[in-house]
Amino acid sequence: MRGDGDESVLRTANGLPVALRRSARARRMRLTVDAHGTATVVLPRRATVAQARAFVRDQSAWLERHASRGLQAGEAMQSELQPDARGRPTRILLRGEWVDVIWGRGSAFRLPASGTPVQLENRLRDLARADAIDAIDRQAHLLVRQPRSLTIRDQSTRWGSLSGRGTLSLSWRLIMAPPDVFAYVVNHELAHLRHPNHSPAFWAEVGRLMPGYETQRRWLRREGDALRRILPAPS
Ligand SMILES: [Zn+2]
Repeated sequence: MRGDGDESVLRTANGLPVALRRSARARRMRLTVDAHGTATVVLPRRATVAQARAFVRDQSAWLERHASRGLQAGEAMQSELQPDARGRPTRILLRGEWVDVIWGRGSAFRLPASGTPVQLENRLRDLARADAIDAIDRQAHLLVRQPRSLTIRDQSTRWGSLSGRGTLSLSWRLIMAPPDVFAYVVNHELAHLRHPNHSPAFWAEVGRLMPGYETQRRWLRREGDALRRILPAPS
């Protein structure tokens, strides 16, 4: 890491690069995202890089939302993923934190040296299943009936669902979200055990199972798209 004065690229909370440009005419800090999804922070002459960094961090959600409209799927996260020579990610979001993926050495998030992104995805699916079972078990005493089974999949449009027969399905990508967001989706689907709709009674049930869930629901609406850009399904 070099000193503040040398940096010309900052990053949002989820790693989106933001170019730093100084302007003698600018009166205050300003953010722009062009049609290609390139984000820039414009700095008045006297503002410091530290101030710009704080500004970019504060505005991360806005930047990521707008940048994603101008980007192809996967591109926004590319710099944070830092693929290795074989195109495998070297970082991954796990339970809301970026962690190193170590292929064949070290210990952070270890996978075989000959491993593939599919193996990484399978590992994340296993973790998602384990966390989902924990989350369901924690709520068991509050439920009038239990889900019949659990499936972990890569649902492109939904984070979770509950079938009429009581099968709870979750997207494995939720393992990348903060744990309380993961718990919100589980509780949302558990609430469907009583109300197979999104009526006021349903939302009351979500609130009974998870008081204060609104924060996590908002997070998912705001940040959820970013999770879909990471580790695109192999074609
Ligand atoms: Zn629902």
